[in-house]
Amino acid sequence: MTYIDLHTHTSFSDGTDSPAHLVSKAADIGLSAVAITDHDTVAGLSEAEEQGRLCGIEVVRGCELSVSADVSTSPATEVHLLGLFLPQNEAIQEFEASLRRLREFRTVRNKAIVDKLRQAGCNITYDEVCALACGESIGRPHMARLLMQKGHVSSVREAFAKYLGQKGKSFVPKQVLSLAEGMALLKRTGAVVALAHPGLIPCSASWLDAFVGHLSTLGLHAIEAYHSEHSPAAVQLCVHLAHKYMLGITGGSDYHGKAKPQIHLGCGKGNLRIPDTLLHPLKI
Ligand code: AMP
Ligand code: ZN
Ligand code: FE
Ligand code: FE
Repeated sequence: MTYIDLHTHTSFSDGTDSPAHLVSKAADIGLSAVAITDHDTVAGLSEAEEQGRLCGIEVVRGCELSVSADVSTSPATEVHLLGLFLPQNEAIQEFEASLRRLREFRTVRNKAIVDKLRQAGCNITYDEVCALACGESIGRPHMARLLMQKGHVSSVREAFAKYLGQKGKSFVPKQVLSLAEGMALLKRTGAVVALAHPGLIPCSASWLDAFVGHLSTLGLHAIEAYHSEHSPAAVQLCVHLAHKYMLGITGGSDYHGKAKPQIHLGCGKGNLRIPDTLLHPLKI
């Protein structure tokens, strides 16, 4: 049995490993495939694919999008979609144009967050956030790391609790696509679309059931049943919903390198294992 990891972030978004480093690490630990799923960018994919060819490991071209939950009863403000097996044809150009717009929304939001952080007495600038990020898709984890480096907080957790999280004093909402827009964009691009980490949506099993039913009418292909933050009960519910709505099953660690040091590539917090037998059915 060999294993795979279909959800990872590189330094092109809020992870800390370069794409090449991440892919060689995946090969070193014996994974047979790894997906790069950076937030709102596909710019790291070519470096990852090149390294994949060198190391003899399959690199799945992916991306993670945040979308508004769009359902009146939703207990969450946003949910995440994974686009996997992104093509390399002209459809990707429209996709990249949409990602550019999403990153512009990020820039507006990030500047507003920095303003609020400064008003709250934190000595940081937007340029320092960009310098720390190095990639093109910048988000709150970068600000959390900068707040730590500057001694304003002692952990990422504290940065989110005090400043950056929804209840933090410097929170600014992010403008995102609607669920229908995000689904339509990924479908038009030709991606295999998976609902990312459903177990992190603060909802009941019956709400998730109805939500996945709704997503399947929009053309959802798969559910990320296996994820570092999923409890055994969440995994079981996701597998049940995949069968109920005839969806594929995917899984990944959501590795972010040093930005989330408790999560390891391929094995999450230690015991996550995603068999490679899940990969082939996702392709058809
Ligand atoms: P953004 O895209 O800028 O809204 O940031 C989203 C990222 O922040 C995701 O990678 C989340 O995993 C991370 N994140 C959200 N809330 C927390 C938290 N409380 N602690 C650590 N990371 C978080
Ligand atoms: Zn992230
Ligand atoms: Fe996510
Ligand atoms: Fe992620």
